Amino acid sequence: MGSIDPYGWRQLSVGVCGGGIGGMSTAIALRRAGHDVTIYERHDFAGEVGASVSCAANGTRWLHEWGVDVSKGDPVVLKKLINRDWKTGEPVSVYDLEDYEKRWGYVYNMFHRQHMHSMLKNTATQEEGEGTPAKLFVNHACKSIDLEQGIVTFDNGVTAKHDLIIGADGIGSVVRTIIGIHPAKRASEQSCLHANVMTDKAVAAGLVDYSQNAALEYWGGQEGKWDKIVLSPCNGGKLLSYYCFFPRAVGDYNNQSWGAEDRPIEELLAPYPELDAQVKAHLAIGIEVKPWRLWVHDAYPYLNRNMVALLGDAGHPMMPHQSQGACMAIEDAAALGILFNKTYFRGNVAQTLSIYNTVRLPRATRVQSAAAKAAYNINERIGFSNNKNIATYKVEDEKAKLTIEEMNAYDMYMDIEEQLAPSEGQRFTKKFWKGLPLGMVLPNGVTVGE
Ligand SMILES: Cc1cc2nc3c(=O)[nH]c(=O)nc-3n(C[C@H](O)[C@H](O)[C@H](O)COP(=O)(O)OP(=O)(O)OC[C@H]3O[C@@H](n4cnc5c(N)ncnc54)[C@H](O)[C@@H]3O)c2cc1C
Repeated sequence: MGSIDPYGWRQLSVGVCGGGIGGMSTAIALRRAGHDVTIYERHDFAGEVGASVSCAANGTRWLHEWGVDVSKGDPVVLKKLINRDWKTGEPVSVYDLEDYEKRWGYVYNMFHRQHMHSMLKNTATQEEGEGTPAKLFVNHACKSIDLEQGIVTFDNGVTAKHDLIIGADGIGSVVRTIIGIHPAKRASEQSCLHANVMTDKAVAAGLVDYSQNAALEYWGGQEGKWDKIVLSPCNGGKLLSYYCFFPRAVGDYNNQSWGAEDRPIEELLAPYPELDAQVKAHLAIGIEVKPWRLWVHDAYPYLNRNMVALLGDAGHPMMPHQSQGACMAIEDAAALGILFNKTYFRGNVAQTLSIYNTVRLPRATRVQSAAAKAAYNINERIGFSNNKNIATYKVEDEKAKLTIEEMNAYDMYMDIEEQLAPSEGQRFTKKFWKGLPLGMVLPNGVTVGE
């Protein structure tokens, strides 16, 4: 237990259940806020086969604020989003990211998950950096939590008492059940197989070197179809990560796990008789073909109870179609880091977590629902959702669509100050509404604050 500060702030003993992208980010944010953090991970991170993970400006900004050495994640900085015709590969909708850093202050990084994960793990646990290094215990799967005492019991029999407990235990969260949330979820109508293609192998086979485009490239995704190929270069361009979507009626992988055996290449190619021959030839030399289970979760009613809060996929699992899963987990971690820092934290954990809930739930669940829509209509995907002038453009509800402005112009400090003001007996007078600049006109026609 930490010492009590007369002004309210006190050092907390924090237990983070789950050492994925969100758990590591939380450890970084909370150690920097002065707390004593322990991460408990059920696995030992060995033998992971990963794929690309997007980190747009709204995630990258926190990596910089936390002093993470981003180059250690060996990212590709994206220059474009390209939507291509399913059969010919000709561009249909292109969203240029050339001025992205100038507009938003930060680049759009594409990482390989393992590299991103070890970059975050090192930042959380190394001596260097602000605060006390986080402790990491692997092979500790959270089993139960005493919600009155703050005692976590792990499946290896170990118990630990903490002032603040974070459930960063991913889409199948145990902590979520412990705090009383039983998700309404259903298997998606869409299936996904993931394959990695080594860029040098593709080039040696005389195929297009897609890594040169430094783009997140999509084939299909129009006309309400489930078929879509998503290509993202990572590992500095050495690896091409392919997410291949098709209707579940064509192949159902929902009962297979990510760690399962590789699927044969024929299975990957079978759903795509008419696909652009160039990308199909890439897939034909794919390796590590794995099913990616897709479950649609409706928004949860809350993220916190007593001293426990959910974060990342545990709190708002989303379909991958906005490429925001990791960014939302990072934003959650950032919110905790701010709320529990020496400026804002007054000593009451449960009260602070209720503000965390107020700040994070609406934003993350808005992205969650936009991700479900983008599954069958790429025009709903941030970036492409700004491209109103293309022939195929159509969205469900123009005013409700998610835009890049909403993601990247967001000022979390302002959002937090606005939500904290009433509990401090103050009026929030800054020119922001829910973190967005008042009066800003979004490309969906909505004016912030009106
Ligand atoms: C092995 C793996 C590979 C992935 N690969 C990709 C990828 O290539 N591309 C992509 O876009 N997304 C990937 N994801 C998902 C992506 O990382 C997340 O959607 C996103 O980053 C949100 O992060 P998160 O921390 O909430 O969840 P995750 O990153 O999924 O982390 C959750 C962590 O909690 C651990 N855990 C689960 N249950 C318990 C428990 N009871 N007690 C303790 N620990 C527990 C898990 O082992 C995992 O390490 C992957 C997830 C995992 C676990």
